[in-house]
Amino acid sequence: MTAGSERATPTTRVGFDRLSLYGEHVAACSTDLSDNTNLWGTPPAAQRVLGNVSAVGVSRYPSAYTSDLKTAISTYVGVEPAMIATGCGSDNILDSAIRAFGNSGGTLACCDPTFTMIPVFAQLNGLTTTLCRFGDDGDIPVDELLSSRAEIIYICSPNNPTGASASVDGIETVASSFGGLVIIDQAYAEYSSVSLTPLVVRHPNVLIARTMSKVFGMAGLRIGYGIGNPGIIREIEKSRGPYMVGATAQAAASAALAEDLPWISNVVAETLANRSRLMAELVTLGYAPLRSDANFVLIPVAEEPQVTRRLLDNGVGVRSFSHLAGIGGAIRVTIGPWQMMQQFLDILGPSGK
Ligand SMILES: *Cc1c(COP(=O)(O)O)cnc(C)c1O
Repeated sequence: MTAGSERATPTTRVGFDRLSLYGEHVAACSTDLSDNTNLWGTPPAAQRVLGNVSAVGVSRYPSAYTSDLKTAISTYVGVEPAMIATGCGSDNILDSAIRAFGNSGGTLACCDPTFTMIPVFAQLNGLTTTLCRFGDDGDIPVDELLSSRAEIIYICSPNNPTGASASVDGIETVASSFGGLVIIDQAYAEYSSVSLTPLVVRHPNVLIARTMSKVFGMAGLRIGYGIGNPGIIREIEKSRGPYMVGATAQAAASAALAEDLPWISNVVAETLANRSRLMAELVTLGYAPLRSDANFVLIPVAEEPQVTRRLLDNGVGVRSFSHLAGIGGAIRVTIGPWQMMQQFLDILGPSGK
């Protein structure tokens, strides 16, 4: 190995030194309930494509903006292909959208707590983040978001990590009263019964971000997409650049959308059943889990570090938060097959409070 030179490394962009690498949130464990991926695995048609990668033709560049996959997604969500942009995970869509529509020195407004990557993407693109607390009813704080003087408003629905959906009325008010870009992150759309896709048809300033990393069971392939007005989509694709989704990922995702939807519906049904059962058991044990419209549940726990440690020592990983706004310490648990939920409950035990 060559040692680094004695000379100083070049200076990064102003403010860049405040950024850090994404933390690995959970140590290796036998039952990983930390990242909201599909614990039933990858759907069968996608697996079949992945087992025959040589047929995909990886010696050549893939479609630059994934034309076939965009067509498959457009059929799935019910809009024209010109209203779809894909990316290397929905992270890539969020980042590209902020870069295209946010000025350096500008502000992005979002709720607190929400998806932890948002302030990072804002900062990467030279924007600062204004955090707005959820209302007492748990809904998005419409007036605060609108009075933040932001250039971009980000709403996550269902919200990670709390789990509840924003009211459609609230989102609609934000979309129609705001002049800038409204990003609605629907990474967990399939678990909630409300479709927000009609909003992008009514409001040319709304972008919905969705992913194939969660219920579609393909987080390792990195595929996300945005749904919006063709004018927004074009700017996001410019900001994103060509070739961001690999050929294998495009082929597996297209196959899943064509053939695996019944498998996905079964997973959603089982997830919702296990979520109700887990919530009921948690209440019996003395916890107060937050209402969830997604495939995870947030459980406030005063002794968060000890609880997380005890679970991990017994092979169960959860995502822990030490001080969420308005909540305090909490653990977020992904819903999976019941035997995993039972293992989690057995180690968690009754609430100590
Ligand atoms: C998991 C998640 C994403 C990122 O998904 P990728 O498509 O894997 O980049 C985006 N937003 C929210 C709210 C998430 O929970």
